[in-house]
Amino acid sequence: MARYKDAVCRKCRRIGEKLFLKGERCYTPRCGVERRRRPPGESVPRRRRPSDWALQLREKQKTRFMYGVLERQFRRYFDMAREGSGATGDNLMQVLESRLDNVVYRLSFVDSRQQGRQLVNHGHFYVNGSRMDIPSYLVNPGDVITWKRGGENGSTPEFIQDLTDGLPKRPVPSWLRLDPANLTGEVVTPPIPSEVDSGIEIRLVVEFYSK
Ligand code: SF4
Repeated sequence: MARYKDAVCRKCRRIGEKLFLKGERCYTPRCGVERRRRPPGESVPRRRRPSDWALQLREKQKTRFMYGVLERQFRRYFDMAREGSGATGDNLMQVLESRLDNVVYRLSFVDSRQQGRQLVNHGHFYVNGSRMDIPSYLVNPGDVITWKRGGENGSTPEFIQDLTDGLPKRPVPSWLRLDPANLTGEVVTPPIPSEVDSGIEIRLVVEFYSK
């Protein structure tokens, strides 16, 4: 499976803002953007006003980085969004939000999408009672996502207890329903793009691919 090999904080520095890719560390002074504001490889800050194309490219890259999606797959998502009914930007946000690694993050089961991706990969989640280890799996309304428990004596492993202590740690969007007692989440409706608080200007992403 293809994946990013670059240091995670370099992506934020390249975009020039915090993308919150590392969970708790992003809220501490150890954050890469807090420590070094300049893009990687640049010793002097740029002064030129960026072109429209540069702004569109930046927004597209920012969106990809935030959701941890490689270019080819992102382009596939865009094509899916364009073929759907309704606004392409809203459709694209719906596809991105439907990814399983994002859903476990939105349910606040994990601290970042990257952590969600890793734990899904390692088979720590069930969807509708079956093990699902594909982070890009797109959930549907009615899907039930559960932590795989079953440590010794059917107990919950310690790292899951640590991660899920005090759920929900963040507000859960209305298209998901969290059951903290049973460490379970349900997809109630398709993702609602207006609820996505990512700071992404999806219009610029659509313009980038519409040239
Ligand atoms: Fe980005 Fe988080 Fe790294 Fe800060 S700590 S640069 S927000 S990934």
